[in-house]
Amino acid sequence: MPSFHRPVLSALEALVGLIYPPSCIACGAATGTPHALCPACWRGMRFIEPPYCERLGTPFAVDLGVPGLLSPAAMADPPVFARARAAVRYDDAARRLVHRLKYEDRLDLAAALGGMMARAGSGLLKEADVVVPVPLWRWRLWWRRFNQAALLARHAARESGVPVEPGLLARVKRTRPQVGLTRAGRAENLQGAFRVPPAAKPRLQGRRVLLVDDVMTTGATANAAARALLRGGAAAVDVLTFACVVHDGLPLVGEAGPESLRLP
Ligand SMILES: [Zn+2]
Repeated sequence: MPSFHRPVLSALEALVGLIYPPSCIACGAATGTPHALCPACWRGMRFIEPPYCERLGTPFAVDLGVPGLLSPAAMADPPVFARARAAVRYDDAARRLVHRLKYEDRLDLAAALGGMMARAGSGLLKEADVVVPVPLWRWRLWWRRFNQAALLARHAARESGVPVEPGLLARVKRTRPQVGLTRAGRAENLQGAFRVPPAAKPRLQGRRVLLVDDVMTTGATANAAARALLRGGAAAVDVLTFACVVHDGLPLVGEAGPESLRLP
């Protein structure tokens, strides 16, 4: 966003604040700042902090003090994308926020969630040449009127200055909702779902892409989108989401011990 818009926006926000006192984006309680969580809801968010898997960004239960460790999931089934990061665990609190953003027209939420994503993905944003939101199928876009991933991408990238280019990736196949599908079913459902439009290919060549979505569950969507971007000429694809599903209780390291888990 051009910088001259900022003072105008701030003035507008101040004016809106006089009429509508700032309230918590999750529970509606009064807060000091607009687009923020109240202290109780803030404590309820399960932010993902290091140490985490270098590839998947999923947190480790114990800090072994060894950088670059991979989770068993990342080793057993390496993702197509290079690295993924998420701001919070996808639990009930995060689910409520995402649901509001998607279905209750709470566009003010995007600024708050995007801010959390910018913090979680600061390392990825520094290395990214371009930010690309996961696109929606056009009928769904028409029905919902906006793409929550594009909105989150704009807010997450705003401070970094990395350009957001939604036109670099298109959804070319209508897919069923992923909910209730098995892991294999999800991958099959997404086969050929994404494509880099031929006209966009020259703008993608050799660029490092940061793909943005609201939630990562199995990674099937991120993998399918990353595959299309790499085929279209991207140098590498990282992924940033607001929330990701974390399965607790997985073994921290494989039988071979932590040394075997280092990144090459
Ligand atoms: Zn609250």
